[in-house]
Amino acid sequence: MSDAAENPLGPDAPPAREHAGRAEQLDVADPLGALRDRFVLDDTVYLDGNSLGALPRAVPDRVADVIAREWGELRIRSWSESGWWTAPERIGDKIAPLIGAAPGRVVVGDSTSVNLFKAVVAGIRMAGKGCTEILVDATTFPTDGYIARSAARMTGLAVRPVEPARIGDEVTERTALALVNHVDYRTGRLNDLPGITAALHSAGALAVWDLCHSAGALPVGLDAHGVDLAVGCTYKYLNGGPGSPAYLYVRESLQERFDSPLPGWNSHAEPFGMDPDYAPADGIVRGRVGTPDILSLLALEAALVAWDGVTIEDVRAKSLALTDFFLDCVAAYAPQGRVRSVTPAEHQRRGSQVSLACADAGEVMAGLIRRGVVGDFRHPDVLRFGFTPLYTSFADAEQAAWVLGEVLRAQPEVEAGATGGRG
Ligand SMILES: *Cc1c(COP(=O)(O)O)cnc(C)c1O
Repeated sequence: MSDAAENPLGPDAPPAREHAGRAEQLDVADPLGALRDRFVLDDTVYLDGNSLGALPRAVPDRVADVIAREWGELRIRSWSESGWWTAPERIGDKIAPLIGAAPGRVVVGDSTSVNLFKAVVAGIRMAGKGCTEILVDATTFPTDGYIARSAARMTGLAVRPVEPARIGDEVTERTALALVNHVDYRTGRLNDLPGITAALHSAGALAVWDLCHSAGALPVGLDAHGVDLAVGCTYKYLNGGPGSPAYLYVRESLQERFDSPLPGWNSHAEPFGMDPDYAPADGIVRGRVGTPDILSLLALEAALVAWDGVTIEDVRAKSLALTDFFLDCVAAYAPQGRVRSVTPAEHQRRGSQVSLACADAGEVMAGLIRRGVVGDFRHPDVLRFGFTPLYTSFADAEQAAWVLGEVLRAQPEVEAGATGGRG
């Protein structure tokens, strides 16, 4: 691209807002456009649904009913009469189609971090003797790495960080499992789940995937690709609310061998038998631990109603169209050379976010938020923009890029290494 001198009004003049009409056309033609009404939103351009999904309209009334009637009136009877006890499996079955799992393979409860611990330790126990190491995505979200190192320390194994693309070359017959992020939280890179899973299996190792940044944004295909264990959160693209419980997936043929490191009474074959000896329940129930957090769990169940009649393939198509369009708008509106996309250009390697490297990213994001465009900043130099196809419009993408251009023109880049105030 040529530099800003091409602008007939001079290098500091704003460019023409050339993509606004296209945004309007794309929104009119968008088959998912009407779904935005299923959410509580305002004029803010909200591009942080990959960190905290927006509030689905169905949630407040449902939560009020759970509190006033199920808890307030039925009290203890709700464990059976309101279906509280079986909610972890029931809601797991509602998430399952979004991640390509058949019923009975997903259970909801606890945080992602806790489920990572269950998955990694249970995976090491399944892998058996002779294994000396686990591999961990070298670019992982930090909590996955912390948990993996603790799990390895407890089981006497070593941890080897490996770039996801190198796992096929690095896995050996001594590798118990690899823990990999499906979409990289920082760059938005989509890792090759089918290929990496197959490479691990051909070396006799298990594949454990973290779906936090892919579930609800793109097809995952857990059953189809033979994934062994997976975890994910529900407050990002699944819109379950702050701290909503996470989920654990265990491949059907491994469930019988799933030996939980947190065998609480909720995973017992007879939880009310009050047996001092532990005997695991059959099936995915053995992924449970203790009493579920019912209020958050039932808020999540109501949030999932926003997916009624939606296919994840349509969501993926819109997600790619949104991120392509946003990148076009940024190229047209941002001053030349001020930001650089670190998100892969190829569709098959891109999740549902765009990450732009920018030297003064923290200040730029603060400027964006002040002007009503909410993305986030990841240390040290990344501007993250998440695109949630159920409620993000093409007009949002265009507006965000336009405001980004304004902020970048108003905040000239500080030279690398410069110190002191900026006036
Ligand atoms: C968001 C996220 C988490 C969050 O873990 P919590 O236990 O829910 O706080 C973990 N891993 C990845 C890859 C994430 O993106």
